[in-house]
Amino acid sequence: MGSTQTQHQRSELQQLHLKRFGMAAFSYGLALLLTWITVFVGYYDAPSSSALLSCVLIIASQLIFLCLFISGQNQRFKDPSLTEAQVMVGLLWATYFLSNLGSARGSFLVLYILVLAFAVFLPPSLFMRYAALALCSFIGVTLWDVRQHRLIEPEMALLQGCILAVTLVWLCLFVSYVHRLRQRMRQRRLALQAHQETLRGMMRQLEDLAMTDGLTGLRNRRHFVVEAEAELRRLGPGQQSGLAIIDLDHFKRINDLHGHAVGDRVLQSFAHTATGCLRDGDLLARYGGEEFVLLVPSVDAAQLAACCERLREAYRLAEPADTAISSGHLSLSIGMTLLQGGDDLDLALSRADQALYRAKRRGRNRCEADWVSARA
Ligand code: GH3
Ligand code: MG
Ligand code: MG
Repeated sequence: MGSTQTQHQRSELQQLHLKRFGMAAFSYGLALLLTWITVFVGYYDAPSSSALLSCVLIIASQLIFLCLFISGQNQRFKDPSLTEAQVMVGLLWATYFLSNLGSARGSFLVLYILVLAFAVFLPPSLFMRYAALALCSFIGVTLWDVRQHRLIEPEMALLQGCILAVTLVWLCLFVSYVHRLRQRMRQRRLALQAHQETLRGMMRQLEDLAMTDGLTGLRNRRHFVVEAEAELRRLGPGQQSGLAIIDLDHFKRINDLHGHAVGDRVLQSFAHTATGCLRDGDLLARYGGEEFVLLVPSVDAAQLAACCERLREAYRLAEPADTAISSGHLSLSIGMTLLQGGDDLDLALSRADQALYRAKRRGRNRCEADWVSARA
């Protein structure tokens, strides 16, 4: 169950990464289209070979990232959404593009913001690093133009630099705010998950309590009925299970002679002894008072009788702790029957009860059966 949940979370995360990557690729594609439009309308005053190189760079990088996604290799990276790689390539490409734009550079400064928009969900320190890289790239390109005597309007370049710097500072503040907000949401989600887990645990405890007998720790009558009904539905043609009602002999006398507390200890001792005689799949429940019911799946009459005999003998030899009752002084009577597909649970219980009544009448400390009616 846990592993399915983790798998589900992993595939959700993978989808989120893919979406983020898709958005970046789509935006870069749009920007690429812009590049070509500027080339065609003659706004891009560099040779078209630089536009071509710019396209190759962006297409190749996106293809490489896509291959990494498809092959699942991106999971090996520290940043599986490849956001950092995308931003790095985007900044490189934007700088190369801007360096070829000349006077049109100012209008395309927005490309830096577009690229950095994908880094918004990175930690603020990383985002600041990339924002600084964008600003330095722009300053570098402008200084290179100065060196090459290509800068026609230095005031305009200064203004552009200032606008870019202010925008980037504002973006950095925004990213810190988003980061804090996400951290708070994450903390709340974790707290909610913890509460949910506690509630689930309490529900499990309540469910367990609702089907457990407080004194003996055995399952109670309600749980037994549910399980026995389910067993009846499971039984196919020709299949059968054993059902027995167990009643401790002269239990009232034990209470009267030794006290109620000792009686309780005898009941606990029976539960412990009987559980030790049964298989994992068998179900022993306290039916009420000093009466117990036993469901033994997939057995025939002989196997059920052997199981009940074993139980009777084990109880007879038991010496309940902290009591003066010694081995050989306890006994019980058992009424047995078989459950078959299509049987009625109440009828089966009354068959076992009849058999138990017979065991009591014949002197107790014995197992009696009602097989005949089960087959009728
Ligand atoms: P029989 O051999 O015919 O079954 O006689 P019995 O004395 O065992 O049967 P009876 O039904 O007359 O008495 C059952 C007694 O079990 C009466 C009741 O006080 C006692 N009893 C029922 N539940 C508890 C319990 O939880 N603890 C204790 N100590 N006694 C209980
Ligand atoms: Mg009794
Ligand atoms: Mg009784």
